[in-house]
Amino acid sequence: MRVDLRGALVIAPFVDAHVHLDKTLIGEKWRPHLRGSSVRDRIRLEREARPQLTTSMAARASALIDQVLRTGTGHLRSHVDIDSDVGLSYLEQLLEVRATYRGIVSVELVAFPQSGIVSEPGSRQLLEAALRSGAEVIGGLDPIGFDNDLAGHLNVVFDLAERFGAKVDVHLHDPGGLGLSEVLEITARTEALGLAGRVVISHAYCLGMVSGSDLSKAVDALARAEVAIMTNGPAGPMPPVKLLKEAGVTVFAGSDNIRDTWWPFGNGDQLERATAVAFQSGWRTDEDLRSALELVTSAPAKILSLDSYGIVPGNRADFVIVDAESTTEAVAGHSPRLLVWVNGSPVGTNAISEYK
Ligand SMILES: [Zn+2]
Repeated sequence: MRVDLRGALVIAPFVDAHVHLDKTLIGEKWRPHLRGSSVRDRIRLEREARPQLTTSMAARASALIDQVLRTGTGHLRSHVDIDSDVGLSYLEQLLEVRATYRGIVSVELVAFPQSGIVSEPGSRQLLEAALRSGAEVIGGLDPIGFDNDLAGHLNVVFDLAERFGAKVDVHLHDPGGLGLSEVLEITARTEALGLAGRVVISHAYCLGMVSGSDLSKAVDALARAEVAIMTNGPAGPMPPVKLLKEAGVTVFAGSDNIRDTWWPFGNGDQLERATAVAFQSGWRTDEDLRSALELVTSAPAKILSLDSYGIVPGNRADFVIVDAESTTEAVAGHSPRLLVWVNGSPVGTNAISEYK
């Protein structure tokens, strides 16, 4: 098939290695956002809201996957809540959703202890069952700030990672020196267990709150242990992306919450996410804007172990066609997507006939 794209930009599909498919409210009528005062308070608000929802989690998750596919995302890592209220039911629903998208959008699943491990009864057993049931990644959440037990929390996470050959992805919101001590403990455990390249710290706001030798020590430890950092380009403190990348740390950008009880904003568009990280990082040059695109393409592809990723002869014909003359213009210009091509066929609303 020959298609004249009239000079449009062709890039590999976006990869979003941090979403929460089970949390989105897309498909529900708009709900006013209730702002919790702390992580614990927001977890309470979410658990209270769940029974009031009128659409199934599977329907909402599917609506979100359809939406991100139209913007060019072909691969996802989704955290899924595992707690004493929902048990494994959200995981089971997402395993079914994942099966319906096989060959179109790939989904890696994280068993996520949103309500803690040490402080949530039965959490350890549920997380273990989740890994047995098909989750590939074990999650974690503020070992000190939430569970107030650094060793107790990480003992469970890394024990399960070792026993099940699971990857690790820890949400770390804890600030400053507190967060830094957790970064150092996670990198030390990663090195000790030989888990290089298989561990992610998500958010790591603390890296944007410290400087000098404290920051250098953490950056060196992350590079040495090959522990990656995820940022969503928040308005507040965020990791120094360029400094980390220059030190050899893998950094990638993810959506995190998209229209849910945690966060009312978002549409899951990964080109917009690259723009947000570039903007919040103060980037302006072409070189920096080009590197922003890597945060939503090649870097997270590595995290998801996508061996056949990229526009290379022999790989599957997956492309995103962007109305821009270059990757720099795409990141800077909020460029629309003209076509999304999956496994040799166009998807989405724009008819291929327009380009013949
Ligand atoms: Zn998250």
